[in-house]
Amino acid sequence: MSPRVGVAVDVHPLAEGRPLWVAGLLWPDAAAGLDGHSDGDVVAHAACDALLSAAGLGDLGSQFGTTEPEWTGASGVALLTETARRLRLGGVSVGNVAVQLIGDTPRIGPRRAEAERVLTEACGAGVSVSATTTDGLGLIGRGDGLAAIATALVYL
Ligand code: MG
Repeated sequence: MSPRVGVAVDVHPLAEGRPLWVAGLLWPDAAAGLDGHSDGDVVAHAACDALLSAAGLGDLGSQFGTTEPEWTGASGVALLTETARRLRLGGVSVGNVAVQLIGDTPRIGPRRAEAERVLTEACGAGVSVSATTTDGLGLIGRGDGLAAIATALVYL
């Protein structure tokens, strides 16, 4: 089997009155949640897109877009579970996924093991989660939204 890498970025705006789902976890003390057609979990979405990129299967939009309305509002964990299932169906095996959250909050560190456990179980292969900030710069620094960048290794 030959290795293939994939890359992805995801960004969602923060909106008051929404629950914050990041890295497959609910952050109950957050003042705002990520907005979007789904739960807006940028970490899970970036992991999905990196996997699809590596497998040559397009992206979340092409896999779960308007042609499959049943995925509207799906959780990031559900999307990651289904993405990994579709890869395996296509004979693709997953090596690992690395995702970095870009944002000041939530603080991933104290819940890193929990997040990695949830995402690894959904993916069926190792998912590591790290985090960084933009030192107050840009849309992330202003608290307008959160971003994540991911890379995935698959074998096909
Ligand atoms: Mg997204």
